[in-house]
Amino acid sequence: MKKIVVIGAGPAGAVASSYLAKQGFEVIVLEKEGFPRFVIGESLLPKCMDALEEAGLMSPLLEKGYQKKMGASYYNRANQTCNFLFSQQFSKSWDWTWNVQRVNFDQDLVDAAQANGVQFVFGCTVTAVEIEGEYRTVTYQSQDGKETKIEASFVIDASGYGRVLPRLFDLDIPSVQKSRGAVFAHFVDQKRTGREGDDIFIYPFDEKNSWIWVIPFSDGTASVGIVSDMEDTKARAADDFAAYLKFVQSFELLNGRFTEAAYQRDPTMILGYSVGVKSMFGEGYVLCGNSTEFLDPVFSSGVTLATVSGLQAAKLVEKELNGESVDWQKDYEDEMRYGIEVFRSYVDGWYNGELQTIFFNPKINPQIKAQICSVLAGHVWDVSNPFVKKHKTILSTLAKVIQIENKGTEVKQ
Ligand code: FAD
Repeated sequence: MKKIVVIGAGPAGAVASSYLAKQGFEVIVLEKEGFPRFVIGESLLPKCMDALEEAGLMSPLLEKGYQKKMGASYYNRANQTCNFLFSQQFSKSWDWTWNVQRVNFDQDLVDAAQANGVQFVFGCTVTAVEIEGEYRTVTYQSQDGKETKIEASFVIDASGYGRVLPRLFDLDIPSVQKSRGAVFAHFVDQKRTGREGDDIFIYPFDEKNSWIWVIPFSDGTASVGIVSDMEDTKARAADDFAAYLKFVQSFELLNGRFTEAAYQRDPTMILGYSVGVKSMFGEGYVLCGNSTEFLDPVFSSGVTLATVSGLQAAKLVEKELNGESVDWQKDYEDEMRYGIEVFRSYVDGWYNGELQTIFFNPKINPQIKAQICSVLAGHVWDVSNPFVKKHKTILSTLAKVIQIENKGTEVKQ
C-alpha cells in the first residue's frame, strides 16, 4: 500500500489525511505538539464546511455544539453597522458556519480523521525531508531526542506557521502585505447583547488601520483580539499586556462587555504573520494551508484556505499515486493562488478604505451586497460572481462611484 506522510495536524493536515485514508491509502500524520494544542484562527467561513464534509469529517463535528455563526458585522468610526447574513448570499452554500475554540476543534478533527483510518504521531518534529527519485524520506525527532526516518510515496506539508518545507527547500518569500501583529486573549463573556450580528464583531479604530475582533464561543467565553502595526502591537503587549487589557475593558463600542471580565485564556502576541512562497509543489511533495501563504486575519480566510487547499492537494495526490498525470501548476497552484488573490483584493480594500465606503453606503444594492457576502463566506472561486471575477478592479470602481454619488448629494444639500 502506498504511504503518504502529512506534516502537521491542523485543519489542512486533518482534511488532506482524512480524504486520502478514505480512498484506501496508508496515511501517517507527524505532529510536533502534543494534542490538544492552542492555535489562533477561531472564526470559520461557510466555504470550509464543504471541504470538511467532502473529507469525511463533518458528521461528528455537528454533535459538538460549537457556536453557530450566521454572518459577520462590520462597524465604522461613525458607529454605523453593516451586517452580512450568509443566508443572503449569491453563491449556493451553507448559510451558516461556526466559531470554534481551536484547542477543541482541531482535536475533534484529529479524532474524526483517526476514525477514518489516519495514524497520528504526536510530539514529533519533522527535521528533514529528502526527495530522491521515487523515494521521499522524512526524518522526525521525538521529544526524547530519538530520530526516526519514514519512507513515503508522497509528502504533504501542512505545518502551518512551522513552514517545514518552505524552510527546508528555500521556498519562503516575504509577503507583499504590510507587516502587522495581533494581541488576543479569551475572556469570560457574560454580557452578550444577543442582537443580530453578534456572531463576529469587527471594528476599525485608528488612523493606522488597527481593528478589534470579538468572537463569541458557545461556552460563554469570547476571543478578543486587536490587530495593529508592529509598534502598537508591541506596546499593547508590554507590561504584561496592560494596554491591551485597558483597551478591551474601556472600548466604548463594547458597552462594558469586558470591563470586569476575567481572562479564560491569557493574552498572547503574534507578530509578522503574513508570509508567501515561491512555489506550492515539487516532485513528490505539495504544500497546503498556512505553509503556503497567509495574508491577514480580517476576513477569517485562514482555515477556509487551509481546508480547501488540503482537500485539493489530497485529490491530486490520489490521482498521481493512481498513475494518472497531474498538472500541479494549473490544477493546484494556479487554482489556490486565484482564491488567495481574490481575498487579497478584499484585504487591500479593507485597509485602503474602499470596502468601508461600499459597506456603509446607505443605498447599497441588495444584489451587490449578496455578491460581496459570498466572497466573505469564502466563495472566492465562484467566477459566476462578478465580485470574484472582477476582484482586481470592481471594489475601487464601485467605491469611486459611491463617492461621486455622495458628493452629488452633498452639493444638493
Ligand atoms: P495550523 O493550524 O497552524 O497547523 C499546523 C500544525 O503543524 C501545527 O499543529 C504545528 O504544531 C504543526 N507543525 C509545525 N511544525 C512542525 C514540524 N516541524 N513537524 C511536525 N509538525 C509541525 N483563520 C480563520 O479561518 N479564522 C480566523 O478568525 C482567523 N484569525 C486569525 C487571527 C490571527 C491574528 C492570525 C495570525 C491568524 C488567524 N487565522 C484565522 C489564520 C489561522 O490561524 C490559520 O490560517 C490556520 O490555523 C491554518 O491552518 P493549518 O492547518 O494550515 O496550520
